[in-house]
Amino acid sequence: MVIFKKAADLQDFITNKRNEQQLKLGFIPTMGALHEGHLSLIEAAKKQECLTVCSIFVNPTQFNDPEDFKKYPNTLTADTKTLLDAQCDILFIPDVQEIYPNGFDAVKTYAFGYLETIFEGAQRPGHFEGVGKVVARLLELVQPQLLFLGQKDAQQCLVIKALIKQMHWEQKTSVIIVPTIRNKQGLALSSRNLRLNETEQQQALALYQSLQFINAAKTTTTFVLAQQHCEALLRQNHCKIEYIALADAETLKPLADFDHQKDMIVLIAARVGAVRLIDNLLI
Ligand code: AMP
Repeated sequence: MVIFKKAADLQDFITNKRNEQQLKLGFIPTMGALHEGHLSLIEAAKKQECLTVCSIFVNPTQFNDPEDFKKYPNTLTADTKTLLDAQCDILFIPDVQEIYPNGFDAVKTYAFGYLETIFEGAQRPGHFEGVGKVVARLLELVQPQLLFLGQKDAQQCLVIKALIKQMHWEQKTSVIIVPTIRNKQGLALSSRNLRLNETEQQQALALYQSLQFINAAKTTTTFVLAQQHCEALLRQNHCKIEYIALADAETLKPLADFDHQKDMIVLIAARVGAVRLIDNLLI
């Protein structure tokens, strides 16, 4: 595995490789504290026979909560070993200066319409604007043919697809969405799980249990009744609910009730202790 801190060095390396052989570049942007979920994206890229580039960059502009940014885990030594073991080809670890050389405001801002007003957009003002900035910069620097994203961040997947459209990059970069990886008990893997103590880890299982309950209830009851049941379950487990919502899986437009003509998605955000978790299930 080759490690680059500077985009120019990464680009030189890729250009040289391109001169030697035809390349399919697969890119996995991350914020580090890598787990099996991230690794499934690396594996997906390897399966497609990509030259696999993983970036680790904790992007300041996407944190609406400064505490969350400060406490975001940094496990670079372990991450590097994990990526070596996973046979990732290139690790890109830019610093803030490299991504935002002329400051945060000098980078183009993209707007994502209603996606910024619902669910994660509503709960985390400015979050997707920050995601748009960093992903646009990373795409320009890495120029991948394939971009691998996790279904765990369903709304982010739609935002990034919208970004690629706005950049007119649909012909350059295709998005591949990889299913959510969970632990044995169903908790969606997340870098933030490192901040949960044992009790909180048990309490956090109520998120997936709720998603499963709603999936099982979709033919027998209304969404509102299923939602009420889950609100009680989450409260019993000391989870502070931000939203439990049903939406059209393709557009993420909220649905008031189950619509079996549509692919649907259930989305949850809740705080467990001091940690904010999100999860979703396609139903
Ligand atoms: P992050 O480091 O949290 O920014 O995530 C980097 C990428 O990994 C994003 O595309 C996430 O959606 C994806 N990801 C995070 N957790 C999981 C998971 N449990 N399963 C699959 N993909 C994930």
